[in-house]
Amino acid sequence: MVTHLDGNVLAGPLSERYGTDRTAEVGSCAECGQSGSLAQSHVYTGAGFVARCANCGAVLLTVVERPGETVVRVHALTGVDLG
Ligand SMILES: [Zn+2]
Repeated sequence: MVTHLDGNVLAGPLSERYGTDRTAEVGSCAECGQSGSLAQSHVYTGAGFVARCANCGAVLLTVVERPGETVVRVHALTGVDLG
């Protein structure tokens, strides 16, 4: 059984990347249109963090921590300007 964490787990890596905690940012899912904060997304960990829509499971964004950098890639997440 695959379990997920809630989006609050992204607070650390997003703070590293952007300097502030961005998990309260509210965006929409490009697949199903559901809006919510990143903290409400379902996060799966493995090689990095994969945040999925809590409603349809679409990948909203991925975060990969490498030595010296944190790489954030936005996928189906819209309405949020992470910069
Ligand atoms: Zn969705």
